[in-house]
Amino acid sequence: MTLLIRNASILAMDKRNGTTPFSGDMLIANGTIAAIGPELALPANAREIDGRGKLLMPGLINAHLHSSETFFKGRYQHMPLEIWMLYAYPLLMKGPISSRLLYLRSLLVAMESLKAGVTTIVDDFFDPPGFDLDRLRLVFDAYDDAGIRANISHCVIDKHVFDTMPYLRDTIPAALQAEVQGPSITPDAYMDYCADVFASQHGRSDRLGFMISASAPQRCSIEMMQACTELAIEKSVPYHTHILETKTQAVTGTEFYGKSLIRYMHDLGLLSANTTIAHSIWVSNEDMELMGAADCSIAHNAISNLKLGSGIAPIRRLLDAGVNVGLGTDGLCSNDTARIFDVMRFAALLHGVATPETDRWVSASDVLRSATIAGARTAMLDKVTGSLEVGKRADVVMIDLGGYDYMPMNELDHHLVYCENGSGIRMVIVNGEITVEDGKLLTINEEDIFAELRELLPAYMKDHAELERLNARFEPYMREMYRRATLQDVGMNRYQGDLPLWPGQNSVVGR
Ligand SMILES: [Zn+2]
Repeated sequence: MTLLIRNASILAMDKRNGTTPFSGDMLIANGTIAAIGPELALPANAREIDGRGKLLMPGLINAHLHSSETFFKGRYQHMPLEIWMLYAYPLLMKGPISSRLLYLRSLLVAMESLKAGVTTIVDDFFDPPGFDLDRLRLVFDAYDDAGIRANISHCVIDKHVFDTMPYLRDTIPAALQAEVQGPSITPDAYMDYCADVFASQHGRSDRLGFMISASAPQRCSIEMMQACTELAIEKSVPYHTHILETKTQAVTGTEFYGKSLIRYMHDLGLLSANTTIAHSIWVSNEDMELMGAADCSIAHNAISNLKLGSGIAPIRRLLDAGVNVGLGTDGLCSNDTARIFDVMRFAALLHGVATPETDRWVSASDVLRSATIAGARTAMLDKVTGSLEVGKRADVVMIDLGGYDYMPMNELDHHLVYCENGSGIRMVIVNGEITVEDGKLLTINEEDIFAELRELLPAYMKDHAELERLNARFEPYMREMYRRATLQDVGMNRYQGDLPLWPGQNSVVGR
């Protein structure tokens, strides 16, 4: 497909122009941005598109997502991570989701993402209990068919869940503990599996990549994390992980290792430029320095962090420390949409309450960077996408500047962050192919997929409700663990406000 878009406003997000728009034409050919400039010649067989009154901007990057949660959208509220996981990632399962629903689940999140202007997703795929290349291939198939760019992991955990949080072994009755099987994957077996994925899936369709994901330092053995880090560096792909999302995890570091989980990773040599950390909320000043010095990235999930009551990440201080910051939705039952435009607005508004020093607030252009080029860096795709530059793959969103959100037009970057919610999107191009035009997904028949989901999902959701009842038996013990952990002083506060920590306690969180 060759496209020539004439006389558009262009927000390139490249080094030279940043968030300052300019007018011009854009030629897209062979999947790449072939030229940007005034009055470009129309090649034979090119489709010419009138860009007047339209904006071209880089496709948005969702730096952290779990496709496994897609069917639980709108299902949970008022649960902190540790309780919510009991239901979103049940300890007791009846068997994995069917192959067809596995495919449709990934397809649905890709479809929703594309329509919201997200051209790259980072899917930290989770599929217990096993590692089955045929099942992971279905996730790749879904993103291939949808036409989206994706980094896909197959997240590994090799510690028993009751050994990944403090106090559980002491509090959960032995009979209940005995019901839950631990994982059996070894570092060697996981490395063999990853080698198979790299050989068969990595680089598919010029837009699908495999990345390495060890779920979290407290959930994996040192041997597993070291093997994963070595492989990520060897293959030049991210080592994607979760660190210090909750106060419970801050306490876990001290309880298990006598140090913060970031310091633990650092001391093991596991922080590198390949390391992308989801959340990074309960990080200390020293943690931030270590992350910056190692050139780490984070995925800031501004909405998910609020939905699960995890806290507010110290984004300005992370940026100051040299940490690269992208934006993620997280899974769709802690957010509960795939719209990065929503995360952008939250991220822009949230950090003003961190300090009265207005010049340290997170700005619209900071947020646009995180949603595009810095987001691409978290996926180690910043040479490929994230900005509109000649030679890069053509991942482009066209926005109609004629609607309410731009009447009247003042500062364009402010409009994109504080006004736009995706309703202005007219076209979404990935790898040079039009995937969305005038509100319609061109790659997949949306009506057919919705009809199939309506047919298949009731039985699946009924089974899931049964699992929730089964797993609810663990909730009192998880709540007690959560209460004990969150009562402790970890030397920082990432909650909002100064309410007492728990009823009856004089201790307050603010300090
Ligand atoms: Zn996550």
